[in-house]
Amino acid sequence: MDYTKNDKIEEAFKIIKSSQKILIFTGAGISVESGIPVFRGKGGLYETVDPHIFDIEYFYNNTLENWKMILKYIIFPLGSAKPNAAHLAITELQKKDKCDAIITQNIDGLHHKAGSKNIFEFHGTINYANCIRCNEKYDYHYILNNFTSIKFDNISDYSSLLSSLNKGEVDRILEELKVPECKKCNGILKPSIVYFGEQIDKQVLEGSFYYAQSCDCLIIIGTSGVVYPAALIPQMAKSNKARIIEINTEESEYSKSFADVFIKEKASIALSKLVNLF
Ligand SMILES: [Zn+2]
Repeated sequence: MDYTKNDKIEEAFKIIKSSQKILIFTGAGISVESGIPVFRGKGGLYETVDPHIFDIEYFYNNTLENWKMILKYIIFPLGSAKPNAAHLAITELQKKDKCDAIITQNIDGLHHKAGSKNIFEFHGTINYANCIRCNEKYDYHYILNNFTSIKFDNISDYSSLLSSLNKGEVDRILEELKVPECKKCNGILKPSIVYFGEQIDKQVLEGSFYYAQSCDCLIIIGTSGVVYPAALIPQMAKSNKARIIEINTEESEYSKSFADVFIKEKASIALSKLVNLF
């Protein structure tokens, strides 16, 4: 890392230190180092998987097929990923009382796995499915144990469960899976990901907007922030006069005039350095 980058990290440190309410806003860039592909762009997931698997119409019209596609391309590969140094550094910042809330556009659940708190998952999460009738939440142990013939009794951790599946088991799950149902009301379960054509969860939206409008420091990490309505978050913070720190490997729309400090660096490196200054 060159001298200028260290200067910028020092500058970011001073801003964070003097702030009272700090909000972190993350996107795909923070999870790349956990081996999670981005969705859009070159080499992105949408080159191999048609984005229509996230259409809510498709889910309702072809529920079983959609479940299988989502398990194969999203839940299994993303669910076995582990948080990287950037996620862990954010948890450290929280322990030092320097991060009040996290808003993420990622569905990978890695902020939770890293032990962070007060997380608003704007686009939902792969960690659960929920009943479309009564909204009861279920984890994937429940789904795999009850809607395939494979029994997973001895594995307590979700990530280990998914990492431990061998190809034969994955094939068997995809072959045998029945549409998962709620044990309370028999409603159909749907992955708790926000599909195209669905509303963002009301509580998530309200919580996100509350922090965006009341924070005095916003740290943007690994996102170009152009997808609405998530793109509203930086704008709200800015109009509330929050100071803006941006950590991205490439320049974004925010880098030049919007951000007070732009650190052009991998999130893991920048955040590890930053957290060590406290
Ligand atoms: Zn239900």
